[in-house]
Amino acid sequence: MEIKEFLQNNKQNMINDLAKIVSYNSVAELDGKSQYPFGDINAKLLDETLKIFEREGLRTKNVDYYAGYGEIGEGDKLIGILGHLDIVPCGKGWNSDPLTLTIRDGKIFGRGVTDDKGPVICSLYAMKYLKESGVNLNKRIRLIVGCCEERGSHCLHHYVEKEGHIDYGFTPDGSFPGIYGEKGGVGGTFSSINTKIKDINGGLVANAVCNEVYAIFEINSINEVKIKEYFDKNNVKYNFERNEKDKLTVYGVAAHASTPHLGVNAIGHLFAALKYAGFEDDFVTYYNKHVGLLTDGSMFDSKLEDKYGALTFNNGMIYMKDGHIEGTIDIRVPVTYDTEVVVNKLKENFNDENGYLLNVNGGKPLFFDPESPMVKALVDAYRDVTNDYENQPMVIGGGTYSKGINNCIAFGPEYPGKDYHIHDIDEFLYESELLEQTEIYIKAIQNLLKLD
Ligand SMILES: [Zn+2]
Repeated sequence: MEIKEFLQNNKQNMINDLAKIVSYNSVAELDGKSQYPFGDINAKLLDETLKIFEREGLRTKNVDYYAGYGEIGEGDKLIGILGHLDIVPCGKGWNSDPLTLTIRDGKIFGRGVTDDKGPVICSLYAMKYLKESGVNLNKRIRLIVGCCEERGSHCLHHYVEKEGHIDYGFTPDGSFPGIYGEKGGVGGTFSSINTKIKDINGGLVANAVCNEVYAIFEINSINEVKIKEYFDKNNVKYNFERNEKDKLTVYGVAAHASTPHLGVNAIGHLFAALKYAGFEDDFVTYYNKHVGLLTDGSMFDSKLEDKYGALTFNNGMIYMKDGHIEGTIDIRVPVTYDTEVVVNKLKENFNDENGYLLNVNGGKPLFFDPESPMVKALVDAYRDVTNDYENQPMVIGGGTYSKGINNCIAFGPEYPGKDYHIHDIDEFLYESELLEQTEIYIKAIQNLLKLD
């Protein structure tokens, strides 16, 4: 059967399967309350997904509810496709229920349709096509689904420990035409020492720009006129309430932490506004001195850049813990730099009498030769299907599964220059791309099957 005919025949089934797995609110829970490593809902979704894999004749295995896989083909060599079933929290403000797959104007809406449940379904149907078309499967092809990608990829670490690495592969959790390099990641948290702020909470995850934060103060401690002046001047939305306490809420624009300049950080503006309004506080001083609104690392003497990209900095979350304020740090270090250098710069720069660095850890960058057979096999598949020879494979700031397993790069699902509202409200996927994406994966696997 022709690929295009196969895709048309299976389109409704793909949408039905995607709707089924989108309906699970599978945010990975790390609180240890469940008997499963990432929560009950997350575990149920893995069961459901493996059932779908079995229905299509894949050999399946549940790897202790950290991950699972479905496999076809024979041979010593293993091609891996790595997707994830967990999602970032839905957040408020969607135009339709994020857990109910909804199609409007050629777009499929739902949390996870692009990141990363949609690509899992597309990969499954790519394997189904290869299985049914009678192509010689001289290697094993394994679709691996992890359950905790968004919160540290513990799932993949466990998987690799139990099942080992792959010989070739891709994770459809980045962009086309393919990503041959990923910046090093530095994560951490900082803490206040003393503060007059009574409560504060903003951001859902460390790896996104915060789009909403509130802070609570003693009544009459905020200069309302100056606050209004600051937000009007900076064109940022806010809300101020004075009841038994003063409460200031700031609204920003979410973006991925690897592209913080595309968002507006509500936390940064909250602290800048407090300073502008003359609210005197040790932690406000600390925040504006060390964290602030700049996203290029210049605040801690680390404005680094190479020909593949620049360093990025993001403070995604802020919250109260045991009477202290804590905030998260997410830094992406250019691929040719040593992440340890940045870790040391943070240690030097993030401590003073008003606050301190609570913890910090650095992960190495990933870099493949863009001319290597595996990268070329994948990029050629994309070009073959789309005829797009203009956009080039790239280096990004995002940390994907590729860093956690050998011989893997991120490949798809996002097309260059398009915004799918990943990690934001109204995440979507183009209906047409659901099929084209699948076609690209079919060709990609076919190309990988030809490698030694
Ligand atoms: Zn993802």
